Amino acid sequence: MWNSLLGFWDQYHGLIIGFSVLGLVLLANQLIYRRYWTSYPTRAAYLAAHPGCDTVDGVVCATCRRKALVGPVAGRGRIYRCGWCETELYRVDCA
Ligand SMILES: [Zn+2]
Repeated sequence: MWNSLLGFWDQYHGLIIGFSVLGLVLLANQLIYRRYWTSYPTRAAYLAAHPGCDTVDGVVCATCRRKALVGPVAGRGRIYRCGWCETELYRVDCA
């Protein structure tokens, strides 16, 4: 029992640690997004502040003009952030 567990650990510890770290980072992100949720502008507020960002392809980042990525935030809604310059753009509250 323990031997097979140790063997498994020996073989996959790199992967297990990698996924654990990834999971922790995602969890930390969720907590941070939820904690500071109201500090992110709404879509309307963001577009009012950056009118040029509302393009036919969707809303783009005000800093680097690339398309925003969507990230779900449990219990809150969705957060749109730029994956290129790591800027949080705006939030969409869940209905
Ligand atoms: Zn950007």
